[in-house]
Amino acid sequence: MKSLDHQFRDWNNYFIGYGYGTGEVYTLEALKKFMEAVEIGGMYDYRTLEKAVTPVAAWLLINLLIDADIIEYGTSPRHGWLTPAGNELKKFVTLHTSKELFDICCTSMFGEFYIYCCPEFCNCTDQSPCITQNRFWSKPT
Ligand SMILES: [Zn+2]
Repeated sequence: MKSLDHQFRDWNNYFIGYGYGTGEVYTLEALKKFMEAVEIGGMYDYRTLEKAVTPVAAWLLINLLIDADIIEYGTSPRHGWLTPAGNELKKFVTLHTSKELFDICCTSMFGEFYIYCCPEFCNCTDQSPCITQNRFWSKPT
């Protein structure tokens, strides 16, 4: 089973990982500030998120994180809440600095040839495929 750092690296790579080490400086910082602006219980008000990361970044992240099953909402995504995977993501990014998140996702600290997995496909070579074990993406139904 992959470590929590590896699970976050896979999650980031799959959902917002097209920065090639250049964009992640900004996307990881925005993700961290966004998640820290979500209340402890997982509820959010879009105005708080807009204030935390600018309205542009807030609404891009709201859309992205709904697709990633990190956020759920009732009648409007202006007010929503975190899914269980979202609460895990909030906990993880809150406990790490932006620099640590960047190092986890974009450096070769795990070796030059990091093997990525995604929700639809696991590349793990051991006997414990991580498809259902990455705590940042939702469990298959
Ligand atoms: Zn895997």
